[in-house]
Amino acid sequence: MKIPLRIPCNTCKKVELIFINLYDTSFERECNCGDIYSGFFGSDVTVGYKILFRSRYELIEREDYSLSIVFSAAAFECELSHLHFKWNNIAALETGIQVSDNQLEELLRRYGSIDVRIEEVSKLIYPLGFKEFVKSSIELSQTVINGFPSLRLDELTTDFQQKLFWPRNRVLHLADTSFKKDDATRCFNIATLGLKILEELDRKKRGAG
Ligand SMILES: [Zn+2]
Repeated sequence: MKIPLRIPCNTCKKVELIFINLYDTSFERECNCGDIYSGFFGSDVTVGYKILFRSRYELIEREDYSLSIVFSAAAFECELSHLHFKWNNIAALETGIQVSDNQLEELLRRYGSIDVRIEEVSKLIYPLGFKEFVKSSIELSQTVINGFPSLRLDELTTDFQQKLFWPRNRVLHLADTSFKKDDATRCFNIATLGLKILEELDRKKRGAG
């Protein structure tokens, strides 16, 4: 999967679009002016955020709204799975009970629908789960209430399912490509919010550990 990045040249300031691979942790680029420069990504640029860069590229540059929706949902789902593996593996280290990637994959499948998966993975980190975590944070609650009229604070996981994953399913299951810019923008914003919530969750757990 190719991830687009807009990188400005340090010397001539020309901005150019470059593509990296999903798991690259650094980039290098040679500008037309002859300057060669490179950089590393911080640990906050997770796989989910990189997929979100691709979603934004499809939304803004290519205006492929259905594909943008697919990438927005994938960004959130990928980050959620990443946390599932990460925190189960850390728990396994602490308890000394080994758990294989296949077992963890099976566990993830057993959760079934995405709304259940969101809550169950979040409970690894915050025992009351995703919805309650957002409600416990004044900043996140206000962001949802003021910035996301399509999301209900008390039904947040259901609404993530219906407003982000159902449009994704319409694209992938029914080849519905009738989505407009507003639809893709809404999905992109919901996925961005979702990644921010997961980031806060992860930070809370790391801080507590
Ligand atoms: Zn340059």
